[in-house]
Amino acid sequence: MKYDVVVVGGRLAGSTSSLFASKGGLDVLMIEKRQEIGTPVQCAEATTKDTFNILEMDPSKKYICADIDGVDFYAPNGKHFRIRGNNMYGFREGYVLERKIFDKHLAIESARCGTDIMVKTTVKDLIIKNGKVCGVVAKHLDKTFDIKADIVIAADGIESNIARMAGLKTFNQIGDMASCAQYEMVGVKMDPNYLQIHHGQNIAPGGYLWMFPKGNGVANVGLGVLNAKETAYYYLTKFIEKLDATPVELNIGGVPLSGPIEKTFSSGLMVVGDAAGQVDPMNGAGIQNTVTCGRIAGEIAVESIESEDTSSNYLKKYEDLWRLTIGNSLETSLKYQKIFQNLNDDDFNVLAEFLENKNIESISKLSILKFLKDYPHLITLLFNVFILKQ
Ligand SMILES: Cc1cc2nc3c(=O)[nH]c(=O)nc-3n(C[C@H](O)[C@H](O)[C@H](O)COP(=O)(O)OP(=O)(O)OC[C@H]3O[C@@H](n4cnc5c(N)ncnc54)[C@H](O)[C@@H]3O)c2cc1C
Repeated sequence: MKYDVVVVGGRLAGSTSSLFASKGGLDVLMIEKRQEIGTPVQCAEATTKDTFNILEMDPSKKYICADIDGVDFYAPNGKHFRIRGNNMYGFREGYVLERKIFDKHLAIESARCGTDIMVKTTVKDLIIKNGKVCGVVAKHLDKTFDIKADIVIAADGIESNIARMAGLKTFNQIGDMASCAQYEMVGVKMDPNYLQIHHGQNIAPGGYLWMFPKGNGVANVGLGVLNAKETAYYYLTKFIEKLDATPVELNIGGVPLSGPIEKTFSSGLMVVGDAAGQVDPMNGAGIQNTVTCGRIAGEIAVESIESEDTSSNYLKKYEDLWRLTIGNSLETSLKYQKIFQNLNDDDFNVLAEFLENKNIESISKLSILKFLKDYPHLITLLFNVFILKQ
C-alpha cells in the first residue's frame, strides 16, 4: 500500500489535515485506532465561530447544541461577572457542539473529498529510512502490515507516541497536563447562552470548573486540576452534589498545558493538535487551534508533494506558519496561565467584587488604578488584561 499522506488519528487534527490534503488532490489515508470516530468524547465542546471559517464549513444544527454569547465568571465566594463575546479583550462568540456528531461529520467531509479511512486500526510503528519517515506499520485485528507514505501526519492526540518514534521531544512530565473529569448532565439550571467558569481552591485547585450549556437543561459540567491533592473526579463529585441534575455521560481526559512541543516536524513528518501541544495553555481550548494547524499541515503537505520535497527543510514551513498564526497567542496565554496559577481565593473574590455588574469594556483606567492601590499584587494581571488592551 502506498499513499501520498498517512494521517495517524481520526479526530479533529486528523480529519482537518486529511480534509485539506485531499482537497489539494493528494492520496490520503487516515487511520483511527478506535472503532468509531469521535467517541469517547474528551471535551467540554465549546468553540468559537471562527472555527467554521477556518474549516470553510457552514455550521450545522446537526451538531450545534447552543449559541454562546459570552462567559459568566464565578469567584469562590459566589460573586460573579459577565464578559460578552466579541469584545476588545479577545473573547469570541461561539457554540457548544455535539462533538460525537461533529468529529464524525468532519471525517465524512474528508472522505467525500477523497480520504480513505481505516478504523479500529492502530499505528504501531513508523517506517524510517536514512532518517526520513516514509510510512507506518499498522495493525487491524490480527493483521499487521506496512503502508508507505511520502508524509506521515501525527494527529494522535495527548497519548501521542508517533512524534516520539520519529525522535521528537514530546511531553512527559505530570505537571505538563491538567487532569479533567466531566459529566454531561440533565436538569442543569443556567443561562442557556452563557458559559460558566468557577474558580476556587476547593472547587478545582490549579484549574477551573466549567458548566457549558447544551440546550434544554443539558450541560457539560466538568473541571480540570493541576498538581492537586485529589483527582479531578473527586472534586467533580463534590461539586455536583449541590446541583439538582443527573448525569448521562462521564468523561475523563487530560489537556497538555505547557505550551507546544519544541519541534513539530522532521523529515517526512508533521505533528498536529494535542500531539503538538497546540492547546491554549490558559483555558485548555484546543478546537480552534487544532483546526488552524490541521489546515496548515494539510496545505503544506500538498505544496511539499507538488514540489517533490518532503524533507525536514521543506516541512519546517508548517512550523513557521502555525507559529506565525497562533504562536504569539499561545505565548501570551502561557504567561497569563502562570499569573492565574499564583492567584488565591481572596484574589478571585476581590476581582469578582470589583467587576461584578460592570460592563468591562467601559471600565476606566482610573477606576482600575484606584482598585490597584488596595490590591497591588494584582497589578500584572489587570495591567496586561485591561490596561494594555484599551
Ligand atoms: C476534558 C476536556 C475538555 C476540553 N474542552 C474543550 C473545549 O470546551 N473547547 C476546546 O476548544 N477544547 C477543549 N478541549 C481540548 C480539545 O478537546 C482538544 O484540543 C482536541 O480535541 C484535540 O484534538 P486532536 O485531534 O489533536 O486529538 P484527539 O481528540 O485526542 O484525537 C487523537 C485521535 O488519535 C487516535 N490515536 C491515537 N493513537 C493512535 C494510533 N497509534 N493509531 C491510530 N489512532 C490513534 C485516538 O484514538 C484519537 O481518536 C478539552 C479537552 C479535554 C480533555
